Amino acid sequence: MFRRLFSQQSTLLRKTITSKTLTIIPKTLAQSVLQHSMQVTSENPTILSSAFSTTSILERNFPVSKIENYDSSTYKTLAFYKFYPLKKPELEALKEKLLTDFGELGIVGRIYISTEGINAQIACPEECLSKLQAYHDEYLKPMFDGNLMDLNIGTEHGKRSFRALHVRIRKQLIADGLDPNTYDLNNVPSHLSPAEWHEKLTTYEERHGKKPVLIDMRNHYESNIGFFDGAICPDADTYKDSITAMNEICDNLPRDQEIFMYCTGGIRCTKAGAILQSASGFDTVHLVEGGITAYGRWISEQKDKGSLFRGKNFTFDARMGEKITDELLGKCQLCGQPCNRYQNCAHASCNILMLCCPSCASQFLNTCARLQCYDTVHEFMNFTKEHYHPAGPVLVDGVRAFTKQGEKNMDASSHRVVIGKKGVSCDHEHTRRTRAIEVLGEPGNVLKEWAKAGRELPVRPTTDINA
Ligand SMILES: [Zn+2]
Ligand SMILES: [Zn+2]
Repeated sequence: MFRRLFSQQSTLLRKTITSKTLTIIPKTLAQSVLQHSMQVTSENPTILSSAFSTTSILERNFPVSKIENYDSSTYKTLAFYKFYPLKKPELEALKEKLLTDFGELGIVGRIYISTEGINAQIACPEECLSKLQAYHDEYLKPMFDGNLMDLNIGTEHGKRSFRALHVRIRKQLIADGLDPNTYDLNNVPSHLSPAEWHEKLTTYEERHGKKPVLIDMRNHYESNIGFFDGAICPDADTYKDSITAMNEICDNLPRDQEIFMYCTGGIRCTKAGAILQSASGFDTVHLVEGGITAYGRWISEQKDKGSLFRGKNFTFDARMGEKITDELLGKCQLCGQPCNRYQNCAHASCNILMLCCPSCASQFLNTCARLQCYDTVHEFMNFTKEHYHPAGPVLVDGVRAFTKQGEKNMDASSHRVVIGKKGVSCDHEHTRRTRAIEVLGEPGNVLKEWAKAGRELPVRPTTDINA
């Protein structure tokens, strides 16, 4: 069984190496792959000639990651982006360089580069922040002809919020569904500091006798748990949908009407604002520089001001959001209680994104509580507990399981386990954008399945399995 487990792991990682995406994986795992690949190569010469042919290739593909050298609790999550024209042939070299240099600093996260520029969400060990700043000043700043905004640091930090470092080359930094010749990214919208943004929005009605036009440029699941007071939050599944909604909202407005818009870190509004100004002829589009993240950080330092943003700022990392105010604006999909905690169903072939309170998460083992998902995960947890491995996937009797970092205070014992059974797929049509409510119905509905099947609900554990 162990052997099967290992060969599966190798196949998975070989895919990682040969795919367009280069991944830096934790050093311990990289070493085990290296050792194992050598065993494999002696048995199977065809593999020798492929991905693992020489050590030098391995070294090139896996710049030695320093991740294990840093205390994961000191990691800070941060983001930066810049629209700046890069030449296509430069992208491959930039990718290699970022993988090597950021890998050296123990940085993990997700970086997209394209001929439009760069967009990065990363986590950096606290002790390397000054080195990252120096790297930015010496290398990135000249290359991108100016600051990549400030290094926008989030407000809440758990342990490392990403597992590895990915650098991906993309056609566009964010897909807008438009012909790039119809708008001009150099027509940059007005970037307000969080203080200016707060001031302008707070006094707008007094100054103009009407409410400001304020648009949330994020997807529905993001605005579901947090938004600026008075914002129009389109029911968007994608950025493309947000752009369509933005155009519909603004279509009949006079072109001298100021438009306010926001997103997580600012990149989506920088593009959307440029589109609105250059393609639709609006005079002024305001955005908050650094997005909700920067506003959240600023407002937390203000003693005398109330937050205009309510609830939680959804983030695309293991934290799945950072709290700005205490309000719980969503509902748990399972029990219907107020909730702002997202999770993906732990049954990998389901994986549906849903709001789920900590208590229901513990009771239903981080699944969506449908019998198929619960039973698969429950069975695995009962019989194969000893196979949990914090560093990577394991395969036990056809069940693939990999641990996934949870929210805050993550350590090996609290890693979430994600499970998929080969050949078993979910009975609902599932895409990345399938909504929990379409599959599970209104909050609470899914629990009726249990009664129908004559099953008792699992006992609520006294301790939170994610704690
Ligand atoms: Zn609940
Ligand atoms: Zn499920």
